Amino acid sequence: MTHRYAGIRSQARVRERPLIALPKVPGELELQARWFAGDFGRNFTSTSGEPVELVQFGYWNREPGPDFRGAALRKSEGEVQRGGVEIDLLDRNWESHGHAINPAFEETILHVFVERSGAEFFTRTSSHWLVPQVQLDLGTLGQGAGEIALAHAGRCVAPLRHFESARVHDVLDSAARFRLQRKAEKLRRRVQTHGREDALFHAVAEALGYKQNRLPFTLLAQRLPLAFLRENVADAEAVLFGIAGFLEAPNVAPFRTCTRSYVRSLWDKWWRHRDRFARLILPPKLWKTSGARPLNHPHRRLGALAALLGAWKRFSVVASRGSAGAVAELLSGLHHPFWSVHYTLFAEPAASASALIGESRIADILANVIYPLRLSEEREVWNDYRTLRAQLSNQSVRIAAARLFADDPRQREFLRLLAAQQGLLQIYEDFCLRDASDCAQCPFPEQVRKW
Ligand code: SF4
Repeated sequence: MTHRYAGIRSQARVRERPLIALPKVPGELELQARWFAGDFGRNFTSTSGEPVELVQFGYWNREPGPDFRGAALRKSEGEVQRGGVEIDLLDRNWESHGHAINPAFEETILHVFVERSGAEFFTRTSSHWLVPQVQLDLGTLGQGAGEIALAHAGRCVAPLRHFESARVHDVLDSAARFRLQRKAEKLRRRVQTHGREDALFHAVAEALGYKQNRLPFTLLAQRLPLAFLRENVADAEAVLFGIAGFLEAPNVAPFRTCTRSYVRSLWDKWWRHRDRFARLILPPKLWKTSGARPLNHPHRRLGALAALLGAWKRFSVVASRGSAGAVAELLSGLHHPFWSVHYTLFAEPAASASALIGESRIADILANVIYPLRLSEEREVWNDYRTLRAQLSNQSVRIAAARLFADDPRQREFLRLLAAQQGLLQIYEDFCLRDASDCAQCPFPEQVRKW
C-alpha cells in the first residue's frame, strides 16, 4: 500500500505544465519563481540557526501581502505553522518596502532573502511579531527560471485525471449543490433578521466589496437601511460616500479640477446629514485599495452601488423572478454620469466608458446572491443554475484548478459553467485551505476515489 501511495503522490508532484505563463524577468521575480519551483529545496537553517522545513509552498499571492500565501512551515519544535512567505533580494527590503508597518504582511511566517545588509536586521510585522529569516545560497542554482506555475499540482490530480468526464462533473456538481444550499441558509437567516429587501441589499453590497473590501461594504449597507436610502433618494449617494469616509477633510485636497464639481455636489448634500451620522463614518484604515485594479477601486464600486439604488425596484423584481440573463442585463446596463468614466475620486476621466459592474462580478452576484436567495424562498433553482456559463476569471478558482486538475486537457470543459467553478471552490476551501501537510494528510484523494 505504501509504495502505491508514494507512487501516486510522486506522479501528482511531477512538475506540471504551468497554468499561467509569466514573462521571464530576471531579479526578484525569477528568484521567487525558482523558490516556488523547489529549486532551493525545502529544508533550511534560519539565520538564528534553527532548522526549518517548508512543508508546503502555498500559492502565488496576487493581492497585497507576502509573495506566497498558504505556505506551511515546520520548525524545530515540530509545530506546523501556516501563513505567507516573502522573498526579497536584500533583507532590509522588508523595511524599505514598508512591510514592517503593513498589516497585510501580518501573517508572514518566513522572510527569505539573498543578501544581508551590514548590520543585523530583524524581520518584524506591524504588531512586532518576529518572523524567521532564511538566507538563500544562489550557488545551488543552475540556469533559467522557465515559466511560473500559479500553484503546485495536488495529490488528488492522480485520481481525478483517470475519472471519466461525467464523474468529475458529478463531483463538482455535488459540491456546488452543497455550496448553494449553505449560501441559501445564510441568506434565509438574514431575511428572517432584516427582511428580504435589506438582506438583498446587504448581500449585493458585500459582493461589490470583493474579497478585499467585503467588511466596509457590509458595514455601509448595515448602517444605512435601504428604507432610509430610498426615502432620501436625492441624498443617498452623498450619504453613502460620506459614511464610507471618502468625503472627509484629508481626502478633499487632492481632488482634480474635473472631479471637484462632482465631489462638491456630494459634499453639499452630505453636510446636512453629517452630524447625525458622524459616529458611523468608517475609518480610512478599513478600506483596502492597494493591489485593486482601477476598475475595482472601492470608490467606483460604491458608485455602482449608488447607481443600483436608482434601479432598486426593478432589480428587486428581477432578483426574484427574472432570468439570469435579465439580471445580467440590468446590472451590466447600469450607468452613472461620473462613475462610468472615472476609476477613483482622484483620477482623470478615462478615454471611454466602462461597465460599472463587469461580467465576472455579475457571475459572482448570481452565484452568491440571486440563486441562493431564490433557493431560500423554497424555489427550484438547480436546473437553471447548473446551466449558467462563467469565465475562468476568479483567482481562487484558477489556483484550485491548478491544484486539482494541473495539466488535464479537460480543465476548461470542467470549468466552463458557474456551478462547476463554485463546486471547485467548495472543495478548495474544505480541503486545500485546511491542509498544512502538502496534501499528504488530505483525505480528499481517498474519498474521491470511492465516488
Ligand atoms: S490539499 Fe487535498 S484537495 Fe487540495 S490539492 Fe491537495 S490533495 Fe487535492
